[in-house]
Amino acid sequence: MEQVYDAIVVGAGIMGCSTAYHLVKNNQRTLLLEQFPLPHTRGSSHGQSRIIRRAYGTEGDHFTEMMPEAYKLWNTLQRDSGTPLFRRTGILFCGTEGEPFMTDVPKSLRKHSMSFTSLDSSALREKYPMLRYPSDTVAVEDQSGGILFSDKSLAAFQKEFVKNGGTLRDNEPVVDVLPGDIVIVKTNNGSYRGRNLVLTVGPWATKVLPTLGVQLPLKAVRVGVFYWKEKIPGTYGVDNFPVIIQEFGSRHNHYYGIPCHEYPGLFKFCYHLGPEVDPDNRDDVDESWVLKKTSACVENNFPLLEPVPAIVESCIYTVTPDHNCILDRHPTMRNIVIGAGFSGHGFKLAPVVGKLLCELVMNRKPSYDMSPFRIDRFHKSSKL
Ligand SMILES: Cc1cc2nc3c(=O)[nH]c(=O)nc-3n(C[C@H](O)[C@H](O)[C@H](O)COP(=O)(O)OP(=O)(O)OC[C@H]3O[C@@H](n4cnc5c(N)ncnc54)[C@H](O)[C@@H]3O)c2cc1C
Repeated sequence: MEQVYDAIVVGAGIMGCSTAYHLVKNNQRTLLLEQFPLPHTRGSSHGQSRIIRRAYGTEGDHFTEMMPEAYKLWNTLQRDSGTPLFRRTGILFCGTEGEPFMTDVPKSLRKHSMSFTSLDSSALREKYPMLRYPSDTVAVEDQSGGILFSDKSLAAFQKEFVKNGGTLRDNEPVVDVLPGDIVIVKTNNGSYRGRNLVLTVGPWATKVLPTLGVQLPLKAVRVGVFYWKEKIPGTYGVDNFPVIIQEFGSRHNHYYGIPCHEYPGLFKFCYHLGPEVDPDNRDDVDESWVLKKTSACVENNFPLLEPVPAIVESCIYTVTPDHNCILDRHPTMRNIVIGAGFSGHGFKLAPVVGKLLCELVMNRKPSYDMSPFRIDRFHKSSKL
């Protein structure tokens, strides 16, 4: 008789790997299935770096609340795997004085008794002369922020999962799911049985969830990842320059930058939006407007960078209308748990997300208020 897993996790991006890791740590017999050979660059979790920060605006206050535990769990993973996963650089939020983007972040940090420094426009110019912003630009500096080594984090979760008894099968796309008390999961290579199923399929949630009767307002969005060459080596280097998040006027002018460390002398600077795509055909879309917009921003704000990117890569965000993720059970098939819609900011939260999805599988009381993450928030006004 075929074995029955306590949980089958579909998707070995950062959320699936973290969930599978928490499940085996809690003695659950767990199978983690991934459609592509690992590592791959077709989803949302590839690349060398992601920003980690405690600070969210007031709309994301529930994420600020989770961050102390996220830092703690990243440290545990770092220690257990023996792999450095984090580099502290500090993080600088820049924007127009008085705008919500610049008032909400300190409000949320203050509420959670987290320290930060405010820089007025002249202090900002004095401390960072390599930035050129409009004269009414102010900044908030959070020294706890920095860079997560995303490729190493993913590999560390996978290694710890297998070390603790988990089964990882890559190059094995799930092609069908037969719900029931025992869920049957069919792949290109066979079929598996599980008491619980976790779907952490990243941008493929737009395709997989409707086949299980779950309609969610999710959008897969292609994001250009651009690296810009320093005109003077060391100007925006990881030893003397922080991570930057800037927003002027609205989310449509939201960018982030990571100091040179992935590729020597290249500063990573990207726009936070992009065109909607089909994850199976993500290169079949015109993103020239993103490059043009980002290039203009680099030219205006980073005078010591060449305004033409030296390297162009890409990645996919899975965006929800409120930019909150979905961490919930399937509305009718209660042993199917869904983690989706991490909206371009989920990586840093992955250890806590994995813990919460594991708690849902194990029917434990969740460690945080789950109301911002429920599926029914999208249907509250519906009369259906
Ligand atoms: C350019 C970019 C920059 C970002 N920057 C930051 C940042 O600075 N800080 C931050 O916190 N977050 C950031 N994020 C967001 C973060 O990276 C994502 O929220 C996170 O990686 C989402 O992970 P995931 O596991 O949900 O998705 P994925 O990584 O896409 O994983 C889903 C996996 O499921 C697999 N899969 C899908 N369908 C099947 C199937 N049928 N069978 C088997 N396997 C399947 C896929 O192949 C994939 O490996 C960024 C994202 C991008 C794209």
